[in-house]
Amino acid sequence: MKVKAVLFDLFDTLLLIKKGEEFYEPSLRKLHENLVKNGIETDFENFKRVYFEVRDELYAKSAETLEEPHFNTRISQTLNRLGYNYSASSKVAAEATDAFAKEFACYVCLDDDTLDVLQKLHGKYRLGMVSNFAIPDCVRNLLDKFDLKKFFAIIVISGDINRRKPSPEIFQRALRKLKVCPSEAVFVGDTPSMDIKGAKAVAMKSILIRRKTTLTDAPNTVVWKPPENDVKHNPDRVIKRLRELPDILEDC
Ligand SMILES: [Mg+2]
Repeated sequence: MKVKAVLFDLFDTLLLIKKGEEFYEPSLRKLHENLVKNGIETDFENFKRVYFEVRDELYAKSAETLEEPHFNTRISQTLNRLGYNYSASSKVAAEATDAFAKEFACYVCLDDDTLDVLQKLHGKYRLGMVSNFAIPDCVRNLLDKFDLKKFFAIIVISGDINRRKPSPEIFQRALRKLKVCPSEAVFVGDTPSMDIKGAKAVAMKSILIRRKTTLTDAPNTVVWKPPENDVKHNPDRVIKRLRELPDILEDC
């Protein structure tokens, strides 16, 4: 069946995170500075220890439930553990999340091929984006910053709907919004156990972008990826650069 729609993962597919994990410490420092400004009295090292404890517990739970609690939740739980009673919907949690996201965004850049490829595909296919990210506003701000929103008919962010890839719900929601059936859509992403596994489970075709020869999975990242090997999820095609995509889609 002819391809009508192309869905993209965002991080490390269309946008790249510079220097691996380097964003984490400075982003966490900004978050902590913001909390101190709002009256939270704890030193950075203690805050960091409790933050990672909470974050890792939430990650472990997410791996089973495929839920995506908003980043504010980990802030409020960290604060609760430090003896402060702020909910995930509090201004204190929201401001701290913003501080983290602003710093993280400084480490994100466009892939050299992204604009050109999206321009080529736009108009020819219905385009959508499905991202696993616990700070949806950060994704929206990055799409604005790089002027990418105009290419997408639909944008689905896990933190908005509390479901993350590879859960079928997030893919099905995207397909429904695009008004295409799975056999008419292709998913493009860099993480086999989320992008490829999830797309295949709802009977979409999938294309893996593998820029490096070996995948390095980094569980300690804001864009959390489970340990995996990429063989068992068998994408339909593998590309090394986004610029390969327009031709590949022609014979999908
Ligand atoms: Mg990705």
